[in-house]
Amino acid sequence: MGEGVTHQMLVDWDLRHVWHPFTQMQSWPDDQPVIIQSAEGHYLIDDLGRRYFDGVSSLWVNVHGHRKKEIDDAIRAQLNQVAHSTLLGLASIPSIELAHRLVSLSPEGLNRVFYSDSGSTAVEVALKIAFQYWKQKGRPEKREFVALQEAYHGDTLGAVSAGGIDLFHNIFHPLLFPVRRIPSPGAPARATAEGFAHCLETAEQLFEKEHARLAALIIEPLVQGAAGIWVHPPGYLTALSELCRRYDVLLICDEVATGFGRTGSLFAVEQEDVRPDLLCIAKGLTGGYLPLAATLATDSVFSAFLGSVDEKKTFFHGHTYTGNPLACAAALANLALFESEQTLKRMKPTVEAFKDGWIKVRQMKQVSDVRQRGLMMGIELKDPAGKRLAFQVCQALRDEGILLRPLGNVVVVMPPLSTRIEEAQWIASSVGQAIEKVSRGEK
Ligand code: PLP
Repeated sequence: MGEGVTHQMLVDWDLRHVWHPFTQMQSWPDDQPVIIQSAEGHYLIDDLGRRYFDGVSSLWVNVHGHRKKEIDDAIRAQLNQVAHSTLLGLASIPSIELAHRLVSLSPEGLNRVFYSDSGSTAVEVALKIAFQYWKQKGRPEKREFVALQEAYHGDTLGAVSAGGIDLFHNIFHPLLFPVRRIPSPGAPARATAEGFAHCLETAEQLFEKEHARLAALIIEPLVQGAAGIWVHPPGYLTALSELCRRYDVLLICDEVATGFGRTGSLFAVEQEDVRPDLLCIAKGLTGGYLPLAATLATDSVFSAFLGSVDEKKTFFHGHTYTGNPLACAAALANLALFESEQTLKRMKPTVEAFKDGWIKVRQMKQVSDVRQRGLMMGIELKDPAGKRLAFQVCQALRDEGILLRPLGNVVVVMPPLSTRIEEAQWIASSVGQAIEKVSRGEK
């Protein structure tokens, strides 16, 4: 905190100057803001010294907890070398080492790494690569994209075009390119064998009829996070991947949310042995430390961009901080921890502890569904009167020292992968108690 700056000054300045994302600023002053000052392990600590369990991993990014020594040290060591140098016309040690590591860890065939800064830009890059790829393959008519109902791929305009969440995306409709929308088998209304079959059939019909115009299908593999933790039935990803192969349509897997262990494997696609043409990663890539993203591409995609300068096949895209060395150093340390701490193995009992913890919650009359895949979890509440119950539950939990965020009627729980069994039990029972409390009209 700057010298002489008080808590009240921070509150006043926040209310006066900060425009918070995804936030109705008219009602923001109704609550006292929690102003984070520091962190320790799984806890965020505010400027008044109150501690909160980081139950959404600082928006789905934190992996091993905060102030993890190995990542802190890696960033400091890189800081002693250089904080930033560009990848336009220059290479850098951390970006090379990280690309090499990512290629060795990602599904076979993805040998090229294009860096950017956020999930949205990773998606934007994938969409532009897919579009330009077909043009340079001599098939410019293949320029349309297929995406899922309630998909979320980020907030830049290409990503918004691919997105299908009306509340966020409708207003921008006149600015967007049209996308072929297919139904999602993760939608609670379709959680039946017939619902699944309908989704597959619709996709198949579309591919059969329109494949000559389709550039790529983009999908959040296994779990649609922002839709409200919609979990796809096993086999869906494989079926779509086969359709893409059969009809010569590129497959873009957006693992911005699911990547880096969230669903129980390093990448969600591994669980169905699916090999995308383009893979988007961000969020957990740096362990939740710094903004860094990447779009991985196959050699086959990459080679379509090769030619003499005059052929103008270059991919003219890049961001100022592309491949930032500090962020790459954090990512390398994050990946090393997955190995040294056996993160994927060690998270398993925590995943099970949550499953057990939800048994009681699932039976509550206020709860319509509990969905979980690895450490991506959503508790859907019945809220027929539209009283923002999920929001109220999160507010009540804040008073108990747990930070969660609602998505519509869904309370999202997305803790660091290093969350311990006792913490999982505490969070699950606290969520149940908060639902009771809110439905009794207490806060
Ligand atoms: N793709 C998916 C699947 C996401 O869940 C998100 C963010 O939640 C994004 C893309 C956008 O990432 P960012 O917010 O880093 O731009």
